[in-house]
Amino acid sequence: MRPIQMVDLKRQYTNIKSEVDSAIQEVLDNTSFINGKAVADLAAGLGGYVGSKHVIPCANGTDALQIAMMALDLQPGDEVITPSFTYIATTEVIALLKLKPVFVEVDPRTFCIDPAAVERAVTSRTRAIVPVHLYGQAAPMEELLRIAKKFNLFIIEDNAQAIGSNYIFAGGAIKKTGSIGTIGTTSFFPSKNLGCYGDGGAIFTDDDALASRLKMIANHGQSRRYYHDLVGCNSRLDSIQAAVLNVKLKKLDEYISARRAAADYYDNAFKAHPKIITPYRASYSHHVFHQYTLVLEGVDRDGLNTFLMGKNIPSMIYYPVPAHRQQMFASLGGGDFHLETTDWLTERVISLPMHTELDEEQLRTITTAVLEFVDRA
Ligand SMILES: *Cc1c(COP(=O)(O)O)cnc(C)c1O
Repeated sequence: MRPIQMVDLKRQYTNIKSEVDSAIQEVLDNTSFINGKAVADLAAGLGGYVGSKHVIPCANGTDALQIAMMALDLQPGDEVITPSFTYIATTEVIALLKLKPVFVEVDPRTFCIDPAAVERAVTSRTRAIVPVHLYGQAAPMEELLRIAKKFNLFIIEDNAQAIGSNYIFAGGAIKKTGSIGTIGTTSFFPSKNLGCYGDGGAIFTDDDALASRLKMIANHGQSRRYYHDLVGCNSRLDSIQAAVLNVKLKKLDEYISARRAAADYYDNAFKAHPKIITPYRASYSHHVFHQYTLVLEGVDRDGLNTFLMGKNIPSMIYYPVPAHRQQMFASLGGGDFHLETTDWLTERVISLPMHTELDEEQLRTITTAVLEFVDRA
């Protein structure tokens, strides 16, 4: 059996090597390393795929969030509602821009922001909501859109983990995550569902005026070279990364199917187990399984992690410390938030290997080992 990894980038690369190598070679041959044709092609390809009018590639998913918040002209002290149960980048940029992060609960089934908690947290200073489509499942956008409309708020979708996921509206309309809010952001970090071979990110919007602000802010605030109208930053996706992404974007739906098939195998193996809660699949969301995350009841979760490691099976805790309990937020009021569901999840979640190259033998080995530990505990 091939060694089991959380994410098997080597094997994925091997399967697309000739296409990737020639795409990279093309960039090397024409030496337009910054803002080359590959970057423009990616923006166009992603726009078509996600269904967004404007796509602004940038240096990484954290920058994408930061530039989004800068473009909305949020002012110091403005409140931004976001889950605490997320990767730190979502919340970090809020503090970086001197905005006030307002941490709210997630739904324990979907792991995504709880709209009722959002509505309770709205004050006269609230300007934006940042939902996270965590682990590849869409946040409940329809309810968030209603709240945003009612209180006149922006929505920035953190779509770093769910690119390619469909959101199914109650009326039957379907949109891709990242194209629903005021702005969507994503990351092309290598282990993400659409990952490059370095750092990368992108910003999505349908709003023309906002798109030109986003573009300017990502490029030193300039619309014309050497004329700087806004305070911006330098955040670019380079052409080599774009070339890799152009190859992988064509495979994204296939990759999503492979992830969903692995998730189906796991679901089936753990079905109806009294101590294992398998990922809930919300009816409005087409889950793209960036992670396959279990919630364990009455099991020594960290013991399982160690036990699996002993059998050369990796597993991860995403995330061991929620944002509001991070030292980073201690002086910014993090401790004022009491988020029982978030704490409860933090102690019980465990993510199993999830990628596009898992085979049945590997999946059987993983599920057998998990059940061996859980059933004897
Ligand atoms: C990965 C990730 C980011 C940040 O992306 P980078 O490209 O690493 O900066 C932001 N939010 C979420 C939810 C992520 O998973």
